Amino acid sequence: MKSIIRVAVVALACGAAFKPALAQTSSDLSNSLITYSYSPPKSAKYVPMKDRLKSFQVLEQLSQFLSPLRLPHQFMLEVMECGFVNAQFVVIPRADPAWRIRLCYEFVEAIERIGPKQGEQSEFSYEDIVVGSLVGVLLHEGGHAVFNMVNVPVWGREEDAADEMSTFIALQFNKDVALTIVRGYSYMAKKWFAFGAPLYSDEHGTGLQRYYNTLCLAYGADPVLFKDFVDKGDLPKERAESCPREYRQIKFAFEKTVLPFVDQNLMKQVQARQWLKLSPGQVATLRQQQQKQQQTFSFAACNLSSVSGVNLALTVRQVSDPQKWQVYGWFAIPDNGCNYIGTFYGETFFWYAFSNNTAWSAPDTDRTASKQCIDNVRAFDELAGARCKTGQVPVNFRRWNVDPAATGVTLKLQD
Ligand SMILES: [Zn+2]
Repeated sequence: MKSIIRVAVVALACGAAFKPALAQTSSDLSNSLITYSYSPPKSAKYVPMKDRLKSFQVLEQLSQFLSPLRLPHQFMLEVMECGFVNAQFVVIPRADPAWRIRLCYEFVEAIERIGPKQGEQSEFSYEDIVVGSLVGVLLHEGGHAVFNMVNVPVWGREEDAADEMSTFIALQFNKDVALTIVRGYSYMAKKWFAFGAPLYSDEHGTGLQRYYNTLCLAYGADPVLFKDFVDKGDLPKERAESCPREYRQIKFAFEKTVLPFVDQNLMKQVQARQWLKLSPGQVATLRQQQQKQQQTFSFAACNLSSVSGVNLALTVRQVSDPQKWQVYGWFAIPDNGCNYIGTFYGETFFWYAFSNNTAWSAPDTDRTASKQCIDNVRAFDELAGARCKTGQVPVNFRRWNVDPAATGVTLKLQD
């Protein structure tokens, strides 16, 4: 099972696209071996999402996009409720067909949450990010599928190769498509996959490595179109120098190993088509979605312990800028009860609870903790340095990574 993420890490795939605005249904781009299905979700909250994906014809377009592939067997594209946040290429031996790309409603929900907030300073629009990252993800999974189905030998980490395939494919289209996917995917790698402590032992690269690799291939393919990424310092000049060579290497690998399985005529038709253009109605739908997603997470804290007079300090790392912290302040937690504190926007928060004689802090060995300076007038300094001011003492705030698919968090303090 090759998935796009590990908890909060991602990957890409090979070749999908969103529907052109008023797109004609493309009967000419079909491959009878590719089928698709929008499975009814178990949770009512995903029903509108299913309708939305269906009205955007996401799977229809992905199947058209993949239609030039000469496949050895049936292949299915499906969206379904998985019970976890992911997109995957799976081979289920006894299923028919066994080979599938599976996109979880939970994953789409998480993608829709990472787009820039309304009013947030960003060079990207929400629609660009949601569409670009979703297509990038589907292309990544398509990469895994191609490696498996046509037996492409892969040197190195398959997750890296799937990312490379995805970006490479994106770059074979017109400038708008290439920009949308590269922006969306790199944004996701930086804002989501790079969130939290990097797990170096994972089969995926770290979020930031995936971010730089994506930008590098794009710049290598078209140094003029992607010049901005270097000028603004998103892609360091030192790396940029080697990117044209890195791109040529991927292109050579594609031509040697994948191109022989591609119907060139159909591929030209796919390339000639206008992809990823949203209609005004589709933009409006996504904008509404953006408002909903930004209602953020609700947060409640309960004292289930035998300790009385507990207070809780809370700080949240901003999604829009992970270097910035928002101090939420102190909250009294009733004995044997809960305090509904409110809502926040962010996927990581840090907390510290204490009473006169007890404290819930992270141990010194916890590398994910955040050291903050607190004082007896119940203030604390965000991003405290090594040294606290007079009257302050350093304490270790515990880290909590919020599941992007969750709608709220309940912190339970126990003995
Ligand atoms: Zn993957």
